[in-house]
Amino acid sequence: MKIAVASGKGGTGKTFVATNLFYALQNEGLVPTLLDCDAEAPNAGIFFNGKKKHTLEVVLKVPEIDTKRCTYCGKCHEYCNYNAVFIIPPVKVIRILEELCHGCGACLYACNEKAINEKEICLGKVSRFDLSLGASMIVTQICVGVYSPVKVIQAGVRETNDDPLVIMDSPPGTSCPFIQTVVRADYVLLVTEPTPFGLSDLKHSITILKGLDKSCGVIINRSGMGDRAIYDFLQQQKIPLLMEIPFDKSIAAAYAKGDLVAMQNKAWCEKLFSMFNLIVANGNSHH
Ligand code: SF4
Ligand code: SF4
Repeated sequence: MKIAVASGKGGTGKTFVATNLFYALQNEGLVPTLLDCDAEAPNAGIFFNGKKKHTLEVVLKVPEIDTKRCTYCGKCHEYCNYNAVFIIPPVKVIRILEELCHGCGACLYACNEKAINEKEICLGKVSRFDLSLGASMIVTQICVGVYSPVKVIQAGVRETNDDPLVIMDSPPGTSCPFIQTVVRADYVLLVTEPTPFGLSDLKHSITILKGLDKSCGVIINRSGMGDRAIYDFLQQQKIPLLMEIPFDKSIAAAYAKGDLVAMQNKAWCEKLFSMFNLIVANGNSHH
């Protein structure tokens, strides 16, 4: 089972939920894997010490033009759906815009002059760490200057294929990286705040999840501040409110130090584990 922990924007407590839930599951004798899909700024590793098992490089094959052979016919430019071939034939300028290239190989196929070769560029890496009692942590990280984390996230998700229980810390936002993560999940836990911004983000995320036909439930962080609008919305939409995390300075202080509340306080472990049981029980009945 794969559970994605997501939120429309950063700073809502998504990593707090993912890391503490992961710990609580281990504490109950399960063997979960934590997958940090926030490849642009992975930080789940702050909370756990593990021994690195292996690292995979995620590479993309991009074309390289041999200007000695190129006749500047422009065919590769025509075949490229991503505008990744920049060409001005009269002045004999041709460039591959690697940040736009998807490595589809269409330009290679198009070229009759054998003027295109392939080279590999590094997009990022996926590292697996062994933690105590059989649990694992997988961290995705893009290389500096890489435009999209999507392929690195996909490689991270593939790395969990044989892991029985996976908690995915999704990237913030609701664009491609978020979609690539939640599309692989059996259940999505949305973490939000009881504020107008929180509600607007939540509505957006739920619209996308409905489009993907995903089951989801909501955790309200910093409950007690803000208003009731989010509660009314969840009731109207029949979306389960799975847990509330009160606005509490001691929680924020522990988190800032890299400590896990579930490790310090057994009640949190129990709370998170009963939420997990609720998800398992209701996983397939809510959309
Ligand atoms: S298709 Fe080949 S020959 Fe034509 S412009 Fe592209 S690289 Fe050059
Ligand atoms: S590999 Fe595909 S995306 Fe990249 S330049 Fe060639 S046609 Fe365009």
